[in-house]
Amino acid sequence: MKAKILKINRSKPDLSKIHTAANAIRKGNLVVFPTETVYGIGADATNASACRRIFKAKNRPSDNPLIVHVSDIKMAVEIAIIPKKYYKTIDGIWPAPITFIMKAKKTLPSVVTSGLSTVAVRMPADSIAISLIRESGAPIAAPSANISKKPSSTSGKHAIDYFKKSVDVILDAGPSKFGIESTVLDLLTFTLLRPGAFTTDEITKAFGRRPKLLKETEGVSSNKKPISPGMKYKHYSPDTRVLLFEGDTKKLRSILIKYKKRFVFIGSKETASKLSGISKKNIILGRKSDRKSIARNLFRSLIELDSLGAEFCITESFSEKDYGLAIMNRLKKASGHKYFRTAGELENYLG
Ligand code: AMP
Ligand code: MG
Repeated sequence: MKAKILKINRSKPDLSKIHTAANAIRKGNLVVFPTETVYGIGADATNASACRRIFKAKNRPSDNPLIVHVSDIKMAVEIAIIPKKYYKTIDGIWPAPITFIMKAKKTLPSVVTSGLSTVAVRMPADSIAISLIRESGAPIAAPSANISKKPSSTSGKHAIDYFKKSVDVILDAGPSKFGIESTVLDLLTFTLLRPGAFTTDEITKAFGRRPKLLKETEGVSSNKKPISPGMKYKHYSPDTRVLLFEGDTKKLRSILIKYKKRFVFIGSKETASKLSGISKKNIILGRKSDRKSIARNLFRSLIELDSLGAEFCITESFSEKDYGLAIMNRLKKASGHKYFRTAGELENYLG
């Protein structure tokens, strides 16, 4: 199959293109579409066989449930039971880059929820995504548009590279606004399951309470072991080995000089300047304090990394404030939890 690739302008969308994509959804076909977080690969959430095709195209394990995207709160009520005490808050927050886990209505195909009694629901804030859902007349189940374990698509080009042969339509609206996936909040336990583009402070402000955090989403510093293989957590991972350095960046240059032009650095402008001339390439995410840019540029950089033929990649840690929690969660996974607290540890590892 060869996907129909339709370039579309966010500020002046060509409605005939939305129409073509919505028709594909209604027929049970797959559509890649932009959201404000990352690109999604979508199917009619009420059509079990269409949703099965998502798992196949992504090579996604069937026990990893899908996020269902809705265009209004009425559509959410058709598939999920919104807890009464949170209804007003959710109605106030949405559309936004936050996904809520709620009790699922029994009518929802079990392929969407991987057989769980709960469902993940989100109303995206991207005008094209909303028009597509509305025009399709059905909720759209859509995980991130990447092959499982690979970094998520933050531009139409990434999604085309991954799915041009396995979906029917790709709506290409250029780069994503946030570039990092939605935050996932379990409303049954008020626990943050995945940090993302909606910050913990924003949740606290909207709900009047702070969500519980899972161990895995806590700071790097909470991990007692500096180097942990943790391969089972591998996600967002390029083929090139990613090493996450948490130590004093002043020492990086002297360690890495032995590996001149053999590694790529992905990180802040400040640290990149310390490695000029010795890295094969510096991919700059942004200034250290500009976590919004760092989040936006992260997946694009991890995807670029594999085209550079480096032996390994060095990246660094960021403050876990606001978007930093999501950034560090993705970086830890990209590195397979291989992180180094001191220059000595990195030196020993590299040999
Ligand atoms: P993706 O859309 O690929 O970025 O990932 C969706 C995320 O939401 C995955 O981490 C899923 O495991 C999670 N998710 C989806 N449905 C549920 C659910 N019912 N309960 C808990 N997590 C879920
Ligand atoms: Mg994903």
